[in-house]
Amino acid sequence: MTTPMVKAEGVHKSFGAAHILKGIDLEVAPREVFCLVGPSGSGKSTFLRCINHLEQINAGRLSVDGQLVGYRQKGDKLYELKDSEVALQRRDIGMVFQRFNLFPHMTAIENVMEAPIQVKGEAKAVARARAEKLLDRVGLGDKTKNYPSQLSGGQQQRVAIARALAMEPKLMLFDEPTSALDPELVGDVLDVMRGLAEDGMTMIVVTHEMGFAREVGDALVFMDDGVVVESGHPRDVLTNPQQDRTKAFLSKVL
Ligand code: ADP
Ligand code: MG
Repeated sequence: MTTPMVKAEGVHKSFGAAHILKGIDLEVAPREVFCLVGPSGSGKSTFLRCINHLEQINAGRLSVDGQLVGYRQKGDKLYELKDSEVALQRRDIGMVFQRFNLFPHMTAIENVMEAPIQVKGEAKAVARARAEKLLDRVGLGDKTKNYPSQLSGGQQQRVAIARALAMEPKLMLFDEPTSALDPELVGDVLDVMRGLAEDGMTMIVVTHEMGFAREVGDALVFMDDGVVVESGHPRDVLTNPQQDRTKAFLSKVL
């Protein structure tokens, strides 16, 4: 059996008295495009943030590629990882947010070169060569010297994807990557994501783009109020939802 890229077992997360994730169980296989859908406030972003060390889970087990997130297990005991070890785990995970968060004072190519140079200590020339290739791949080979303010939202988001890929992650997390875009700019971003999927990247995609989920997704989980309500192949869940909550949600977004 292959090691899942992500495995969640009974994952709980609270903020103070607010119980947000109420026992999430799921598995993401390597090379899978895993779509996470559900109403606003159901805990989708919180779950992604737990995978990427932006939040710590309160109970359960969460692992990426067979390694516990943030912990090392010895016998029955769990030990928190040191900051340097957490940094190593995070390096392998790329994240793309709804808002692109590019560095405004850097050009597109400088944005893409930044992390490999700063985090990995990579030589500038090596980082630049890779960044050029990546910007080309996301269709921005002619915009490498543009500043974010000189790019459309969709172009900025594609730079953000290239920037995440520059760290050569084994897992990409997308948190509503097209939700902040004008409708006519959504397609180019989804095309880049489709290309990544074809290249075998493991991706968890939080999205309301059900067309993308149906065409590109290998698995889909519907989450509501901190629990997994229903899961399966996107085509099955989207065309033949079993649970009332899933039906109600899909009737609003489809
Ligand atoms: P989704 O991404 O599905 O819309 P979120 O994971 O962003 O949902 O949020 C789920 C719930 O957790 C919301 O009610 C939100 O207000 C709450 N929440 C998220 N982050 C925090 C935080 N840092 N502190 C307190 N509450 C939070
Ligand atoms: Mg969210």
